[in-house]
Amino acid sequence: MHKSKSIGIVSLGCPKALVDSERIMTQLRSEGYDLVPSYKNADLVIVNTCGFIDSAVEESLDAIGEALAENGKVIVTGCLGAREDEILARHPQVLQITGAHAYEAVVESVHRHLPPPHDPFTDLVPPQGIKLTPRHYAYLKIAEGCSHRCSFCIIPSLRGDLVSRPVGEVMNEAERLVESGVRELLVVSQDTSAYGVDLKYRTGFWDGRPLKTRFYELAEALGDLGIWIRLHYIYPYPHVDEVIPLMAEGKILPYLDVPFQHADPHILGLMKRPASTENTLERIRVWRSICPDLTLRSTFIVGFPGETEASFESLLAFLEEAQLDRVGCFAYSPVKGAAANNLPGAVPEEIKEERLARFMEKQAAISAQRLQSRIGAREYVLIDEVVDEGAVGRSRADAPEIDGLVFIDDATHLQTGDWVEVEIEEADEHDMWAHLI
Ligand code: SF4
Repeated sequence: MHKSKSIGIVSLGCPKALVDSERIMTQLRSEGYDLVPSYKNADLVIVNTCGFIDSAVEESLDAIGEALAENGKVIVTGCLGAREDEILARHPQVLQITGAHAYEAVVESVHRHLPPPHDPFTDLVPPQGIKLTPRHYAYLKIAEGCSHRCSFCIIPSLRGDLVSRPVGEVMNEAERLVESGVRELLVVSQDTSAYGVDLKYRTGFWDGRPLKTRFYELAEALGDLGIWIRLHYIYPYPHVDEVIPLMAEGKILPYLDVPFQHADPHILGLMKRPASTENTLERIRVWRSICPDLTLRSTFIVGFPGETEASFESLLAFLEEAQLDRVGCFAYSPVKGAAANNLPGAVPEEIKEERLARFMEKQAAISAQRLQSRIGAREYVLIDEVVDEGAVGRSRADAPEIDGLVFIDDATHLQTGDWVEVEIEEADEHDMWAHLI
């Protein structure tokens, strides 16, 4: 179990500086840092300064001094950062100074002085995502904790039951991210489809209108922001059907990340999975009938205690039937403190590895075939990076860090964050190659 790491932010200056502070806070929060409103409880303090007029400079220098006196570990960013000599003359102890809108540098500096509390068992954001989220996409965390009690998981004991963030607060954050240049929001929480259950779907306010704290209403409101909205960590509850038309209409991305973990009813029962009694294949069929372009991503665990050859084979049969697009799979390994550790029927390591290999072989063929079927199609791509040979982006079917990439030749004139239309020329089992239309 890791100790949480806490950061205080002092934000001075104009609305633009506030957007930077929000951006920094969102990034740090999605990486698992706690944000605290006092110097005393913070492990480190960020001061976002203003250098517009003399009185603002003085106020900023005073704020840095106060943070140093009260806390001691201080990173300075914002407009005053351009006057590094002046800051250092007064406050030589600051850890690092960066300029305005240098939010990546600030987050990097935090990583250096207070490494992220990454925990592979509890983190929502993939470890690669921790390095830095580029400016054109961002994680939007809508809740903390989880009210389920999956037997292999320790998140509820670490983070407590589900606590949804008020819908107005979530929407304001989303809107600010869009204003700061974000083109894609990745909606995350431990159980995104349960959003608002703890608040009994309380009606909040956003943009002067009432808005329910509920999965569908949030997805619809986010869909009005005009950027890509991607939903992660959804469970196959019946009410998830409601958001599929939003995908078919193009309001949110036709993409669902549903961590099924297994398909055999007995194993799902032992895992105590949410929605384990749902008829998942029927649910998938309904989703695809409403939105044929839907991309389904999932993760699975093989070799869970009690998994027999027959239950493993029923998982393979499910894969064949479900035809999922993107899949991750892990051999079960016990997590300290998880209830599943006491289950009988531990699967020997070599059988776990053998099942993992059989699982991956089966799914690789399915994923490859599904990607091949996209050759010749026209798709929208969001550009992640421009390199010497061309541009690299992602289609609507690909989440950053975990899914595939689209490589586009002769596209060095593009910029990160551009949306372009391409025609797919080639595909392997993971990535695709395309040309601009
Ligand atoms: S749904 Fe299950 S696996 Fe996911 S956080 Fe909650 S308890 Fe853990």
